[in-house]
Amino acid sequence: MSDQTTSKLYAIVHCKCPHCRRGDIFTGSMYGWNIQHTKEICGHCAQRIEIEPGYFYAAMYVSYAMNVIEMLIASFLTYLIFGPLTDETFWPYLIVIFTGCFVLYPFNYRYSRIILLHVLSPNIKYKPYYDK
Ligand SMILES: [Zn+2]
Repeated sequence: MSDQTTSKLYAIVHCKCPHCRRGDIFTGSMYGWNIQHTKEICGHCAQRIEIEPGYFYAAMYVSYAMNVIEMLIASFLTYLIFGPLTDETFWPYLIVIFTGCFVLYPFNYRYSRIILLHVLSPNIKYKPYYDK
């Protein structure tokens, strides 16, 4: 075992537990056949991931903010390709924006919870002791 600690960025990108930065937070893959679930307890350090009942309701707001940003980006890309929104370009706009939301749904589910756990939660502190 090495003395190297896991960086916060690595833990966020790879969806690791904020307490030990080793255990996975989700079961299943983001875009796999088996539906992803949030684990209740970290398999590496036994930290409770859903700290209190209803904790992940707050992730809804994070997810909402992510969705708004993604919709704005999708609209801008549609604008670059099809031009300004008129009666003729209404359907391309609608299709691009809704397809974007649908395709990015698993990504938003996963990273809204990760952002909540790693960035917006002061309750779970990183303990280098468990990071091995
Ligand atoms: Zn852990």
